[in-house]
Amino acid sequence: MDTKTKDTEVLIIGAGPTGLVMACHLLRYGVKFRLIDKQKDRAQESRAFAIQAKSMEIFQNLDIAKEFLKLAHSNVDFAFFINGKQQIEVKFKHFKHQDTPFPSVYFLPQTETERILNEFLERKGVYIERQKELITFIQDSQGVRANIKNNITENIEKITCDYIVGCDGAHSSTRHVLKLSFEGNAYSQIFNLVDATIEWPYSRNKFLFFLGKEGVFVHIPLTEKISRVMLAKRLNDAEGKFSIPYVTELESLASLLTQVPVKFINPIWMSTFRLHHRGVNRYYQNRAFLAGDAAHIHSPVGGQGMNTGIQDSTNLAWKLALVLKQDATVNLLDTYETERHPIGKILLKTTDQFFSLLTAPGFLISKLRNWLLPLLIKFLFSKRNLEKHLFWFISQLNIHYDKNQFNYEIIDKAYSNFKGGICPGHRAPNAPANTSDLFTFLAEKPFNILCFKIREERVNNSIEKINGLIKNYKAWLQVHVFVLSSANKLLFKRYGVTSSAIYVIRPDGYVGFRINSENYSVLADYLKNFFQIKFE
Ligand SMILES: Cc1cc2nc3c(=O)[nH]c(=O)nc-3n(C[C@H](O)[C@H](O)[C@H](O)COP(=O)(O)OP(=O)(O)OC[C@H]3O[C@@H](n4cnc5c(N)ncnc54)[C@H](O)[C@@H]3O)c2cc1C
Repeated sequence: MDTKTKDTEVLIIGAGPTGLVMACHLLRYGVKFRLIDKQKDRAQESRAFAIQAKSMEIFQNLDIAKEFLKLAHSNVDFAFFINGKQQIEVKFKHFKHQDTPFPSVYFLPQTETERILNEFLERKGVYIERQKELITFIQDSQGVRANIKNNITENIEKITCDYIVGCDGAHSSTRHVLKLSFEGNAYSQIFNLVDATIEWPYSRNKFLFFLGKEGVFVHIPLTEKISRVMLAKRLNDAEGKFSIPYVTELESLASLLTQVPVKFINPIWMSTFRLHHRGVNRYYQNRAFLAGDAAHIHSPVGGQGMNTGIQDSTNLAWKLALVLKQDATVNLLDTYETERHPIGKILLKTTDQFFSLLTAPGFLISKLRNWLLPLLIKFLFSKRNLEKHLFWFISQLNIHYDKNQFNYEIIDKAYSNFKGGICPGHRAPNAPANTSDLFTFLAEKPFNILCFKIREERVNNSIEKINGLIKNYKAWLQVHVFVLSSANKLLFKRYGVTSSAIYVIRPDGYVGFRINSENYSVLADYLKNFFQIKFE
């Protein structure tokens, strides 16, 4: 394939949340890309409703978190009912967890999330090429050539690029072209979804979960007036085939499940669907990558779907950028598979287990569930530590990657070891730092070298030495020095620093490297992993 004069570096297929976040990152890294979508307009259905803390941290890094905070509901209380009787109420403020600026779940319709991301791109002069559909593509060692159909003119345009990223959702054409399997199953329950103003005796501002012998009912506040309601009848009662119900039928079902009168006023979206849980067998093949729903779909339990796609893109974008700038070799791209695929598998397993626990039919199972679940929830929220773990799990802050060539630590036996702190492959937490907070520093450049010093001596010398190491990579890397002081005490504690130390934080907010001394030659060895082509 003659791809010497390629049309672009990265071709992104699909402008859902995964594709939009991929575009935002590539823009920041100065990568040339095109973003196409087969639809004429943005989807109008609210779909995903929960933005998790890790996604908010990513948005903060892109400088758009404020826009989400302005619109999203947070600190939404949660109550759990069995057979119409409230079992427990949990205040979301319990989740207050200090090492993130976003200690909550943020409720916002996916349409708004996409709008904010879209407008961010448009402000920077990037526009989605709409009504353009990926039909097929071929790839070789030189690049990718994709056939894109213009859905207005029906013409086929050939786009050549270095890499193609399929963010094209559950029915991904990219995945089909790659002939990758998408194994899993459909759940047998039929779900009904209504976005409407709800009239009932309960609050519109709470996340309410009703479990009963007839089925499941979930109420989520989307905006001040509009609620998302999901209802499912148990399998033994369901007909097992689709029929779109009338609003009045859904109101009757809602009343049956909640045991109170329910009215849906002016529904703006109603849908009936069967949920699937499926995962792809590989996240990439040579120059073609899959991200988001194209790689994994699962039940909406825990509001993880969209957030996982956002993190897929965040993991992949900087790796593509480094390779495209010829600052790193292509083996960095393998870590997209080794880091993100296991996360996708765990997500499918846990959401499937939890979903099955909630929906499995059968008299005995339902008796056991109705007895066990309230106890479990009460237990979880009675223990500060468990509550913290639950938040960590839902918020995706607990996601971590295995040690590999790009995530490792060196322990210098001549100095005192880290006292806990953050292992390579784990998320870098926030903390007050100097006169600001650490995340403010991390937003400046993609990679950040944190140099911790117990005493304020030879600070300039440290900066000079590290700056010397990274002089060819100033666009990528920045060094920050933190001296132990009352302002930085918590930072040192969170990072487990007991003697001088160096951490390297990757562009996606994960720790890549740490050493418990100021050994610059070991730091240089680590950086050569990423920047091995031109590193001096
Ligand atoms: C009915 C419903 C309810 C949901 N509710 C929730 C929820 O409550 N919570 C939650 O977390 N998740 C929910 N989800 C899932 C969530 O919406 C997805 O996880 C999220 O949209 C995934 O984003 P994505 O960008 O990967 O894919 P998508 O949002 O599906 O975007 C894919 C994009 O690719 C485009 N495209 C597809 N094929 C091509 C092609 N060949 N060429 C060009 N463009 C193409 C599409 O037009 C689309 O814009 C729900 C999904 C559905 C369908």
